[in-house]
Amino acid sequence: MSQPVASHLLPTYNRAPIAFERGEGAWLEATNGERYLDFGAGVAVTALGHAHPALVKALTEQAQKVWHNSNLYQSPQGEALAAKLCENSFADVVFFGNSGAEALECAMKMARKFHAARGAPERYRIITFEGAFHGRTMANLAAQNKYLEGFGPPLEGFDQVPFGDHKALEAAIGPATAAILIEPIQGEGGIRVVPPQCLRGLRALCDKHGLLLIYDEVQTGIGRTGRLFAHQGQGADPDIMAVAKGLGGGFPMGACLATKAAAAGMVAGTHGSTFGGNALAMACGNTVIDTVTDPAFLEHVRHVALNLRQRLAALHDQHPHIFAELRGEGLMLGLRLKVPVAEMVDAARAQHLLVIAAGDNVVRLLPPLIITDAEAAEAVARLDRAATALERAHHLEGVA
Ligand SMILES: *Cc1c(COP(=O)(O)O)cnc(C)c1O
Repeated sequence: MSQPVASHLLPTYNRAPIAFERGEGAWLEATNGERYLDFGAGVAVTALGHAHPALVKALTEQAQKVWHNSNLYQSPQGEALAAKLCENSFADVVFFGNSGAEALECAMKMARKFHAARGAPERYRIITFEGAFHGRTMANLAAQNKYLEGFGPPLEGFDQVPFGDHKALEAAIGPATAAILIEPIQGEGGIRVVPPQCLRGLRALCDKHGLLLIYDEVQTGIGRTGRLFAHQGQGADPDIMAVAKGLGGGFPMGACLATKAAAAGMVAGTHGSTFGGNALAMACGNTVIDTVTDPAFLEHVRHVALNLRQRLAALHDQHPHIFAELRGEGLMLGLRLKVPVAEMVDAARAQHLLVIAAGDNVVRLLPPLIITDAEAAEAVARLDRAATALERAHHLEGVA
């Protein structure tokens, strides 16, 4: 029942048997009129929730002016958004694309070009980590060493090491190494947090060996952790960073941020994107960043995240046969399960709560950043009912 029999959509997704036609804040209304509490946010994309008034206004106002100009002309809105991203991060320059995958392509090309432009083109290899997810382009597949089967020879130049294995990491660094690429919190991999001391260790290793440090903050960025970017305040800034998902608040866009030094090789003609920096995307991106960089907004995220986390910790303890571990930071939280995660996603949807599966048998909660305390409590109440239903289905009730 995953797709209508006569679907003309390429069946690469297992779609749930439900469609939504409108939304407001953290709530979605299905085509049958039923309301769902959205704790997936379209995979961490609708950071400001659905139909946020400021975003609707920005997009519709821009739509009446001009949609697209290409990168052959000046982009005042692109300049404005890039300036805001740089003022609020380690970066000096920004390249706009249309997705996370493309932001990472730009990041990886930039890292290779950095060394090539300094007369060391033999330094092109990038170290990545097991469990990583960087997207679906050919380079992304090779980088994450996943979903490669049947797609021919993978792009050469990646060395993957086990997550958290410092010895293997040091051993992987050689004369051909250009960069280290890491998600500060693995998203698809199961909400696995990289501790701050490890990020600082990576920074030190990169400095020691002349490598570039690349963060994939496609999922962790744009306020999700209660900081604008997950790595901030941890004493380990990157040289290059990929951002996407929440950046457009639901409008497709991505960005590659970099220091001037790291971007030195990316001169005119070295990279491009027809749609990148599109006027509609910039209107949305500017609005999202203006909203999320308000200190009161990030304070709200931290407050409601703590509330949600405490409730989830209690829920975890109440269902020891269902939940194995609570993970994550801010509003990027995961519960590792003792029952198959697909069953939990379905059981939650039966309670009209949308959550997302991740690797390592983890169910992910990625609500819009604008959720209230009451909505956090409601989501946990629905998860509680879902867990109880699963206990019954697995004859686990009363065992605790
Ligand atoms: C979603 C994601 C990507 C890929 O982004 P797309 O927009 O789907 O191309 C890359 N890295 C991370 C960490 C992600 O979560």
